[in-house]
Amino acid sequence: MTFKELGLDESILKALQDQGYENPTPIQAQSIPILLKGKDLLGVAQTGTGKTAAFAIPILQQLLEGEGPRKKRKIRTLVVTPTRELAIQIDENFTAYAKYTNIKNTVIFGGVNQTKQVYALHQGVDVLVATPGRLLDLINQKYISLADIEYFVLDEADQMLDMGFIHDIKKLLKLLPKQRQSLFFSATMPRAIVDLSKQILGDFERVTIEPKQTTAEKVEQRIYHVNKKHKTDLLVHLLEGDMNDATLVFSRTKHGANKIVKDLEKAGIKSAAIHGNKSQTARQRALGDFKDGKLQALVATDIAARGIDIDELSYVINYDLPNVPESYVHRIGRTGRAGASGLAASFCMLEERPFLKDIEKLIQTKIPVVDDHPFEFKMEDAAEPSLKKQGGNRGGNRSKRPSNNSRSSSGGNRNKSRNKNRSSSN
Ligand code: AMP
Repeated sequence: MTFKELGLDESILKALQDQGYENPTPIQAQSIPILLKGKDLLGVAQTGTGKTAAFAIPILQQLLEGEGPRKKRKIRTLVVTPTRELAIQIDENFTAYAKYTNIKNTVIFGGVNQTKQVYALHQGVDVLVATPGRLLDLINQKYISLADIEYFVLDEADQMLDMGFIHDIKKLLKLLPKQRQSLFFSATMPRAIVDLSKQILGDFERVTIEPKQTTAEKVEQRIYHVNKKHKTDLLVHLLEGDMNDATLVFSRTKHGANKIVKDLEKAGIKSAAIHGNKSQTARQRALGDFKDGKLQALVATDIAARGIDIDELSYVINYDLPNVPESYVHRIGRTGRAGASGLAASFCMLEERPFLKDIEKLIQTKIPVVDDHPFEFKMEDAAEPSLKKQGGNRGGNRSKRPSNNSRSSSGGNRNKSRNKNRSSSN
């Protein structure tokens, strides 16, 4: 299947050629014909599959077809996405694909002064990409009307819910015209998301791009069992050795991300952190420096990383394993994008082994373990201080039978660390 066979306008085909896209990705090949028929779409897919083009291209095609003489531009397409980074990226994609058309797009998001955004809206746009908070804010201030929306995209719905945007989304739904084409994308489909999709979609078709396909096919995965106190040493070891190139490092918490950056600095490795506590300017600068090759490592939390689109990113390191297995799939999906191959290394300490089990169950793959690295896991180091103090014999037995101990302590820690993770992540 080619883009031409999908019956797209010459102006769009030319822009796609400029982007170097030769053929549609699976989600594009499946979704574009459905959307061009005017049907609603439920897309179960993650970032990195070509999802943005899967909705942007058919929307642009339909906007071109429906274009008549007009006095003033009206917002005919609304894309709502959870993070500023994603919003900026989607907007950039629209700009790229619409570059030979007369269609105008803009992006609005919170955390920055609204003046420039209001000015851009005032100039008139056909496509608006927005994060929920700023969107409602500008609607309330009467800078935006949703009365003319024909195409509505809700992107990363599961992430929206995780970030507590459900009430904002419900408010938005009330303001949208009933007659519209709706597109709903989510990487996972828990109950709450299925319910939300029912409120948004009319006569829809579903397209599912399984995460397994994205992970197993293109990304080489490795597990490094390591003690907590050696994680940074191992990180430095990899960044100076096998992974001596642009690497995205995932930390479970914002505080952890800052600490990793400090430790890397001490080791002479340039890096920056991006997470929710950083200003928009700081995040954009970090991302820009990383893309330009000025930083070797970008240290991110899950939510901040959702928006990152870096072509040809070769390496991802999970400094901490995520407690939600789907996040692992999202994370390693940052590498090996659009045909490139990638390498994902995950650090796993004793307490994280249950998370590893969940991940392997989800991706239905046993991830190979690297056992000849200099910071290999040692049970002696992992023992709780109180046990350690109890003397030679017990310590000696423990090290002789590490696997038994490993099983019992990880089981005991499981719920505790899960709960802890939930409340402190991102
Ligand atoms: P997305 O899932 O929308 O974040 O897209 C992931 C990456 O794939 C982006 O860098 C896109 O520019 C790229 N991409 C999207 N569609 C294609 C295609 N048909 N061929 C090659 N690359 C693509």
